Amino acid sequence: MTNPRTASCQCGQLVVTCRGEPVRISVCHCLACQKRSGAPFAAQVRYPEDQVKITGESREWVRTADSGKRVEHHFCPQCGSTVWYRSRPHADAIAVSIGAFADPAFPAPWFSVYEQRRHPWVEIVGEGIEHSD
Ligand SMILES: [Zn+2]
Ligand SMILES: [Zn+2]
Repeated sequence: MTNPRTASCQCGQLVVTCRGEPVRISVCHCLACQKRSGAPFAAQVRYPEDQVKITGESREWVRTADSGKRVEHHFCPQCGSTVWYRSRPHADAIAVSIGAFADPAFPAPWFSVYEQRRHPWVEIVGEGIEHSD
């Protein structure tokens, strides 16, 4: 993979730089991710926290997931883009929205989850992608 990879919000002040290899690349069809991303499904990459550098200002919004986990969403206070989030416990990884990399060559997801919430016209295709409800 290109190293490091850089994600940013639309206005460009909130920047997340990721180096090395990610631990997970996934697509999620759950309703919370649909709301978060504004799209009918969300795609995100997780990197170990020590491989991530965040610069710029973000505001945090916290949601409690069905699992009881606390999900901390970080978005740009200027342009509103949701760039990254993390779940606690398990704060060892930072999840970054793949769209924020603005890179059509970004590697394909490894997992497609919450497929029971998948819009019927959405199909996630590719070699070796693991699908689950
Ligand atoms: Zn911004
Ligand atoms: Zn989700």
